[in-house]
Amino acid sequence: MRIEHDYRRLPEVLHTAVTPDAADAPELLAWNEPLAEALRVSELGIDRRRCAEVFSGGPLPDEFDPVAFAYAGHQFGMFVPVLGDGRAALLGEAVDESGRRFDIQLKGSGRTPYSRGGDGRSWLGPVIREYLVSEAMHRLGVPTTRALAAVATGERVYRDGAWPGAVFTRVAASHLRVGTFQFLAARGLEADLVALADYCIDRHYPDAAGADDRYVALFRAVAERQAGLVAHWMSLGFIHGVMNTDNTSIAGETIDYGPCAFMDEYRHDKVFSSIDHQGRYAFGNQPAIAQWNLARLAECLLMISDTRDAFETVLSEFPDRYEAAYLERMRAKLGLLDSCAGDDRLIADWLVYLEEHGLDYTLSFRELVSRIDAADTAVFGDFEARWRRRVGDQGRDANELAAAMNAVNPLFIPRNHRVEEAIQGAVDGELTVFENLRSVLDEPFVEHPALAELANAPEPQERVLQTFCGT
Ligand code: AMP
Ligand code: MG
Repeated sequence: MRIEHDYRRLPEVLHTAVTPDAADAPELLAWNEPLAEALRVSELGIDRRRCAEVFSGGPLPDEFDPVAFAYAGHQFGMFVPVLGDGRAALLGEAVDESGRRFDIQLKGSGRTPYSRGGDGRSWLGPVIREYLVSEAMHRLGVPTTRALAAVATGERVYRDGAWPGAVFTRVAASHLRVGTFQFLAARGLEADLVALADYCIDRHYPDAAGADDRYVALFRAVAERQAGLVAHWMSLGFIHGVMNTDNTSIAGETIDYGPCAFMDEYRHDKVFSSIDHQGRYAFGNQPAIAQWNLARLAECLLMISDTRDAFETVLSEFPDRYEAAYLERMRAKLGLLDSCAGDDRLIADWLVYLEEHGLDYTLSFRELVSRIDAADTAVFGDFEARWRRRVGDQGRDANELAAAMNAVNPLFIPRNHRVEEAIQGAVDGELTVFENLRSVLDEPFVEHPALAELANAPEPQERVLQTFCGT
């Protein structure tokens, strides 16, 4: 792992040196070997014990130079001028085999100038959750930050009681957010905004550099990524739970796995987060919230660009962009290999059917595959006959169609009740459920006969009704 510090080209007001706390008795809970290989961590020349030390706060090798980043953000619609990394430290960037640059960040390694009242720590629960869900998202093909390591610190963290502490190592295309722009904009730091926007173009959207107005081009590129990202979430039944502007990545990755959840039974207005009282971040609101967050980014970029109309055009095109991306994903999930008028209606009716019958979102698609040429009475009512006619008209071989559908409809998702079970196990020093989940989620589209029950929807008594912020 060759560590670089390219972020130093960013305005100084955005980063402050910090010293992560070394853990008392670090112990590796999880290590992401394929990712470690891609990032060439072995070049650090450290053994497993040293790895646990480094990825829980130190002592750190000399080439690491940890900083906390400043950002602002709208939380549940309310602007907070100073947020920042209150429990995270960027160690530096690693460049992978193909030359791509990734931030390596510790989460839960102690207080920073942005901790406000917080302890800068994390307990095991959010660490296990982010590890499982972010890696599952990656395997499902969704752009996301990744998990390199989870290390137990051997220390206690106090929440509603004393819990085992842990540090999570997050790998991200970058940690620049809409909130990073807002931090500078709120202070009227125009020259710094120019530097940040140019840096984002350089690092994430080099094609925008040659455009007539590069900040409009940057904005369009960010909006396109968000449209595709949220469409992907919606197609998988994923609820982010806390789509604040500080949790909206400029690089277009899913970031911040707090109260997130995959739905079991389909409900358009489903909310899990314990703090989302108004349902602002309900499942069905996510596309509109993404557009709202983009409008906040546009406001910042308008300070350094004078083409207001162009920003408005990009914003107003967002719903169509999103719809197109969503339709494409849903067509694939339903085995509609070509596009026909009325497909949007068929998709909408499928969702209505699932909702009216309280059916499991993920498994219903897999069950639909088994209905392609079933001869017995319909499982999915009138919808099934209509759907079968539609896919039948494509003249494709049934096996070919089934394979295409199974390749985009996961059998395994990180279901809440399983994630909770994995956390409970880890708290008790038992990692079996965590390991089993990791292994099925590594290949979520194929059967794992020995662990088949991990695909199941929760029994009524297993249902998780609420999720919590990862603090
Ligand atoms: P999040 O909910 O993860 O988006 O965090 C929102 C803000 O709260 C960020 O500025 C975090 O750094 C900060 N924060 C969350 N938990 C802690 C903690 N335990 N100690 C200090 N700051 C925290
Ligand atoms: Mg956050």
